[in-house]
Amino acid sequence: HDQLQSKPSTTPNDKELPPATASGDRMNATFVTLARNQDIWEIAKSIRHVEDRFNRKFNYDWVFLNDDDFNDEFKKVTSALVSGKTKYGKIPKEHWSYPEWIDQNKAAKVREDMKQKKIIYGDSVSYRHMCRYESGFFFRHPLMLDYEWYWRVEPSIDLYCDINYDTFKFMADNKKKYSFVLSLYEYVETIPTLWDAAKNFTKHYPQHIAKDNSMKFLSDDNGETYTNCHFWSNFEIGNLNWLRSDAYIDFFTSLDHAGGFFYERWGDAPVHSIAAGLMLAKDEIHFFNDIAYYHVPFTHCPTGEQYRLDHKCHCNPKDNFDWNGYSCTSRFYEMNGMQKPVGFEKEQ
Ligand code: GDP
Ligand code: MN
Repeated sequence: HDQLQSKPSTTPNDKELPPATASGDRMNATFVTLARNQDIWEIAKSIRHVEDRFNRKFNYDWVFLNDDDFNDEFKKVTSALVSGKTKYGKIPKEHWSYPEWIDQNKAAKVREDMKQKKIIYGDSVSYRHMCRYESGFFFRHPLMLDYEWYWRVEPSIDLYCDINYDTFKFMADNKKKYSFVLSLYEYVETIPTLWDAAKNFTKHYPQHIAKDNSMKFLSDDNGETYTNCHFWSNFEIGNLNWLRSDAYIDFFTSLDHAGGFFYERWGDAPVHSIAAGLMLAKDEIHFFNDIAYYHVPFTHCPTGEQYRLDHKCHCNPKDNFDWNGYSCTSRFYEMNGMQKPVGFEKEQ
């Protein structure tokens, strides 16, 4: 109180303003972020966007995961910004290292090759551990076991429109298990044998394949070859129990043994996408047109001017990637027999 009294009397004590919260029950859900201590100011910016546009009304928890210990500054700044509880977890070594069946010399040669070919992150060991962790482990971290739903947030993202409803509740009420805002074609150099590994999985585990799946999104020839279409996984709202299911774990384990996380540079985006595409019914995957989002270099700005005005959006509709030739979102609409939003032609 001494400190407060020493402030000029014109400074309102705004720390005591009541939090703006929506009424109603909360879902068993959390935000989740994988980050390093050095990412602090970039994740601070992301949290600020998420809180302003959504979470200040809902106060969901936020789990931070790191292969190292988070330092006090990281914890202090992020816990001040998040309106819900914050939790900080260290990733066990076994989840961030080479499995014993990986030939590390072979992996090193691949990195050297990819460096020559200037493939993005091609020479990085930590990026590969990160992709493997996001593919197969984050949802089984002890801190995540308490939750059923997650929303993944990365450093340096923007949210451009108000979200006035509980997106987790929407997922549950509409029986959705996975969701996306941006979709695109993967660099094929990073996943030359991923589809072969996926086909090998479907051969051995036909019981895990959903009847009404999204094969038309993944393949133009009924499964022979991959379109390279994937949902961009730096944004995800999804169901953790699905990721923890036998089906998903068998899928991940099967890919992990194929070795492509290290012998190639498989991203968690195509891994999650192929899993969702094969093992979920297609109506369990949701496109959040109303979540306006940016992660370098792509923007999802909702098509439809009235929506943007009503939700105080500040994205430039010209930046919207959805109807661009490199996006797979049209394909998703066509597969599901969905009507494209009014005005999409003008944005093509
Ligand atoms: P990009 O979006 O594919 O360019 O990759 P990012 O650099 O954004 O990494 C993806 C996510 O993993 C982000 O949330 C990063 O903060 C996180 N990340 C990447 N590398 C590491 C790492 O070595 N350690 C930790 N703890 N997090 C990492
Ligand atoms: Mn990123």
